[in-house]
Amino acid sequence: MTPPSPRSADLSSAGLNIADVVIVGAGVIGASVAYWLTRLEPSLAVQLLERDRSFAQASSALSASSIRQQFSSPLNIHLSRFGLGFLREMGIDVTERGYLYLGNAAALRAINAVQRANGADIALLSPAELSARFPWLNVAGIEMGALGLSGEGWFDGPALHAELLRRARAQGAQLIDGEAKGFERDAKGRIGAVLLADGSRLACGHAVNAAGPWARALAAAAGIPLPVHARRRTVFVLSCPQALADCPLLIDPSGFWFRPEGRYFIAGTTPLPDLDDLPLQPNLAEFDEALWARMAHRVPAFASLRVERAWAGYYEMNLFDANAVIGAHPDAPNLWFANGFSGHGMQQAPAAGRGIAELILHGRFETLDLAALGFQRLLDGRPLVESIVIG
Ligand SMILES: Cc1cc2nc3c(=O)[nH]c(=O)nc-3n(C[C@H](O)[C@H](O)[C@H](O)COP(=O)(O)OP(=O)(O)OC[C@H]3O[C@@H](n4cnc5c(N)ncnc54)[C@H](O)[C@@H]3O)c2cc1C
Repeated sequence: MTPPSPRSADLSSAGLNIADVVIVGAGVIGASVAYWLTRLEPSLAVQLLERDRSFAQASSALSASSIRQQFSSPLNIHLSRFGLGFLREMGIDVTERGYLYLGNAAALRAINAVQRANGADIALLSPAELSARFPWLNVAGIEMGALGLSGEGWFDGPALHAELLRRARAQGAQLIDGEAKGFERDAKGRIGAVLLADGSRLACGHAVNAAGPWARALAAAAGIPLPVHARRRTVFVLSCPQALADCPLLIDPSGFWFRPEGRYFIAGTTPLPDLDDLPLQPNLAEFDEALWARMAHRVPAFASLRVERAWAGYYEMNLFDANAVIGAHPDAPNLWFANGFSGHGMQQAPAAGRGIAELILHGRFETLDLAALGFQRLLDGRPLVESIVIG
């Protein structure tokens, strides 16, 4: 596929407001697509449509912004490794304290072999080694820990988002206020325009669904079912009188996580039941009901935790297989999806944006082959297996 730029760029310059690409949603994913499109093809007319420039409810503003290489699927490992390189290129610091997964020795050993074969720097630690390294940790019932020695940790997510947006705009992408409500399509299913809530239309050669937790509604407007659901996650900001030396991002086998954040800790867990579209107010009861006892069991010093504040954001959960959907649906060949990152979209945004840009510009992936994350697997009922999902 060749870029539609010559024709639409001519029309744009003639004042007809036809973009080569309209991207719906200017969160980190939409900003990354815009950044890569304009970096790889500076003459392209790219419009980034956003209904709320405050990003108050956007996942990109409410994320825990951590990056790991401890996935079980090589593709996810490579997506995150690309993200790590990109953060370094942008000059965004990563606090490389690692993730620490606690769990079953046989399972961690099997996954570790895949991780090491794909360049991830992950060490397996016995309970005795864990106790020596993290004396504040209760290793009762723990068979093994997997610790990222480099290339894993956390970063300033809003800084990545802001930098992608700033650079995309400096490279010529236009940020437009407005809400997409639907699409104009021809008999072959091709998108000719994005239709806005105010009744206007943005004619385009390609459209991108980068609507984050709201991606399912936008896909439905094109008649395409997308199993991406907005699932609220509460993040607690906690203080603890005792410091925990060298504390990594810890994933407990019971399903909660915590990590340091400045002089505080942040923590969260998967809520039960896990319902769609709950209002974005933190569920404060979750701390007492589902977190505190488990945290204090794993780290006895956490018995004196204090909740300082909490916030809530939506995971854009792909209920099919908890992995991103990157590519087009066969029924709409110029509507591109970059959705359903299921809790790892911040770290995968650089690679996902580049992948979509390559598909639009060259009709194929050129840097990382992301074909396994395409729509076809949903149509074929073939989930991409990723056993390390942080719900
Ligand atoms: C609590 C929490 C913790 C997380 N922790 C991590 C982590 O540690 N590491 C990690 O990698 N990821 C993490 N994530 C996931 C990550 O934050 C998301 O995957 C990522 O931010 C998704 O970006 P996005 O651009 O797709 O969505 P968003 O940031 O939500 O952006 C979508 C944008 O689309 C706009 N929009 C929607 N519909 C329309 C429309 N019809 N018209 C116009 N605009 C529209 C919205 O206003 C919004 O601004 C976490 C998420 C949460 C909620």
